[in-house]
Amino acid sequence: MTIALFQQDAYQNTCDAEVRAINDRGGIILNQTIFYPTGGGQPGDSGTLTFGNSQIKIATTVKDRESGEIVHVPEAGQSLPEVGQMVKAEIDWDTRYLHMRMHTALHLLCSVVPCGVTGGQIGKEKSRLDFDVGEKPLDKDQITEDLNRIIAEKQKVEFRWITDEELENQPELVRTMSVQPPKGAGKVRLVKIGENIDLQPCGGTHVNNIEEIGVIKVSKIENKGKRNRRVNIVFG
Ligand SMILES: [Zn+2]
Repeated sequence: MTIALFQQDAYQNTCDAEVRAINDRGGIILNQTIFYPTGGGQPGDSGTLTFGNSQIKIATTVKDRESGEIVHVPEAGQSLPEVGQMVKAEIDWDTRYLHMRMHTALHLLCSVVPCGVTGGQIGKEKSRLDFDVGEKPLDKDQITEDLNRIIAEKQKVEFRWITDEELENQPELVRTMSVQPPKGAGKVRLVKIGENIDLQPCGGTHVNNIEEIGVIKVSKIENKGKRNRRVNIVFG
């Protein structure tokens, strides 16, 4: 399987890699990559692959549903590298960094709105989470204020890999998590923000310190059925 460098260091924006395979739809599989594949509401990365005198554009990155492989999807009509060829991979960093800031902001939103999350989408200009709020009223201005107060605390975002066994031995850990970890995966990566702001399993890309998010504003709260509310955020 491709080594997912973005899980070790979300700030790495280039790497050298070897082409392992080209799938039947022209998707490129590398031995290691900094391209994040679409998942968890976060869009896949775009960027370039450079080899010899050629450079091709990668339109997006996805995870193959069957094999789980990370597939780099080239824009149509380009000459592809060959299997075994070395390439220099580079992501569209400006877009990715916006995704990292938004993604981390959504973790804070989870902490501010203590309700079950039923969906979400990250974008470079706006992002959203859907909550099952029950009867609980949500106030746009209050959430905006709470988010920015937390961001001003400048807390670190930290990771910890945990095995199923460790998790079983620490049931109190699961109770404090805002999202339950998947069972049977062997190990999960936990994302911890500050001492008690947010703790949940997550494979996405985050900023190192929540200060980097900058000012956030709740642009609107939409009514999506009796119990569901969609909270949209933008950079302020
Ligand atoms: Zn995350």
